[in-house]
This record gives sequence, structure tokens and C-alpha cells, in this order.
Amino acid sequence: MTTTGGLVCAHHHLYSSLARGMPAPPRTPSGFVEILELVWWRLDCALDEEMIRWSAMLGALEALERGCTTIIDHHESPNAIEGSLSVIADACAEVGVRVVCSYGVTDRHGRDGARRGLEENRRFLAAGGRGMVGVHAAFTCSDETLAEAAALAEEFGVGVHIHVAEGAADIDAASRLASLAREDWLLVHGVHLDDDHGLAGTVVHNPRSNMNNSVGYAAPARFANPVALGTDGIGADMLEEFRLAYVRSREHDVSVGPDLAWSWLEGGAALVPEAADDRVVWHHGDADPWYLAFTPGLTPVEVEVAGERVLVDGSATRVDADEVRARAGEQALRLFERLG
Ligand SMILES: [Zn+2]
Repeated sequence: MTTTGGLVCAHHHLYSSLARGMPAPPRTPSGFVEILELVWWRLDCALDEEMIRWSAMLGALEALERGCTTIIDHHESPNAIEGSLSVIADACAEVGVRVVCSYGVTDRHGRDGARRGLEENRRFLAAGGRGMVGVHAAFTCSDETLAEAAALAEEFGVGVHIHVAEGAADIDAASRLASLAREDWLLVHGVHLDDDHGLAGTVVHNPRSNMNNSVGYAAPARFANPVALGTDGIGADMLEEFRLAYVRSREHDVSVGPDLAWSWLEGGAALVPEAADDRVVWHHGDADPWYLAFTPGLTPVEVEVAGERVLVDGSATRVDADEVRARAGEQALRLFERLG
């Protein structure tokens, strides 16, 4: 057995937990923007509060079961905006996982949609919620909306959580965000950023998602920014994401060791320092990057978050895992019917 601090997923979309097995899109997407249009932007429009709740419960449970104690979430549900961040925060609290919430503001649904997204971030932060100001991406926002989101973040003393240059469609993100970005921003993906892009903030690398969407390799070692790891909504198994980050870095440069990808995983703990005080006891192994890079399926037997044991003998203590999976499955069927 070996013990580590809590792992941090620096970019998640808990709303996508129900997406696995969803009906195929009306046609095969030809690239990144069509993947958004035909898959994710249809899915997020179909979400209601009950789906958001059970999607978050399932995502939080699965994070806990992989030793991830802290999720930095980015949410969008254009037809169920108001109150959505509290639904997610409450679900994570019920499971016992820490979450930093944000609502992804966008002009895709007109000026009013952007305004309602900003308002949800404000409502949640003003009520004392732990969060950031979310923005979908520069390429789906007007300059006015970007400036308003940055101002709202400044007002609450938090950063902006935004997708940046994930695909070629967002190629001018760096110039549009140059005067706005601050050190507490999360710049998610950065695949198409120049090496010397000049944006302040932590770059969040999502190797599995980038490969899945065929957007290219972000090669985060080329940036001066701090780097953290996220899953972009594909679970919260951060040791798995570390192994993918390692092997993808190795494909790019065979001379690098796993300590590089390990430093990115540790970058998450720099964003939410309390995670380092959480305690994860793994069933076997060694907390050494060379060992972990080649050891699949490490499982926690016990997890303690903020002093409370929320996983004992491999089972969640605050919720019934079978029931969470069953209720999430029911909501997934409702979601699939809407998408079918
Ligand atoms: Zn994302």
C-alpha cells in the first residue's frame, strides 16, 4: 500500500458523465467544430436539472473511486442555466468530493444566453459558492462578453476558466484575450497557441480528449505557463490521464521521462492546495512516476477529504454507489430519448 495526497482534475465537464453510449449523431463529424455542433452542443441543450444532478453525482463518485478528491468543473446547460452550479456543487458535496464550479458563458444562444450565463456565475459566487467565471471559448463569444466575464472574475477575486485554442477555429484566442488574461485564469487545451503566446494563467492539458478530437498535440512543455492536467469530461481517473500525458509526450520526444507529465499532474494541486492534505491509500504500488507510468488500474482503498473518510474498503461512505449508478442510468435513458 502507498499513500498520496488527493488528485486534482483541473478541467472536467461533469455534465458529460451520462454521454457514454448516447445515440450516434445524425452524421459522422468531420472535425473539431462538427464534434461540438453534432455531439456536445446537442447534448448540453437537452440537459435538465435532474440530468445535471445525477450526471454530477456519477462523475463525483467515479472521481472518488479513482482517488481524485478535487474537480475543477466547467458546466453548460443552455436550457437549464439558473441554479445549475448549485445543483453540481450540492451533488459533489453529497458524495464528499471538492468542486470548483463555473458556468461556460457563450454568445451561441444570443446576447440573452450570454447574459444568463454571466448571471449564473455571479449568483453562485455571490452566494459564497466556490467557483471561477466560466467562458466557453473566445470563438463563441463577442469581445463585449469576454470583457464582461473578465470583469466579473475580477470583482469576485477569482480566475476565468476558458477553452483556449483547442481547435483551429479558435486560432485568434491569444490576441483577443491578451489584455484580459490573469495569472489565476485556466487556459484549457492551448493546442494551437504559439510557444510565446503571452497569455497569463495555467495551461490545462487534456491529452485523451485532444487525441479523441484529433486536434493535435498541445506540447505543453513549450510554454512558460504552469501546466495542470484535466480530462475534459472523460472521467476523472487522473493516474490514467498522467499515463496518457506521459506516453503522448514520449511520442513527441522520446528523450523525456515521466517526471514531466508527473509535474503537470502536480500542477493541479497548486491550483487547489487543500487537495494535498487529502489522503488517498492505494491498494498497492509506489508513488514514483516511473512506476506509475507503467502500472494500470491502481485503486484506492481509502480516501479522506478534508479530514473525513469518504471512501473505506474501496466503497463510498456517504452515498450508495449502486444507487447512484442506477439513478444516473435512468437519467441517461431520458437524455438519450431526447437525443434520439
Ligand atoms: Zn472542456
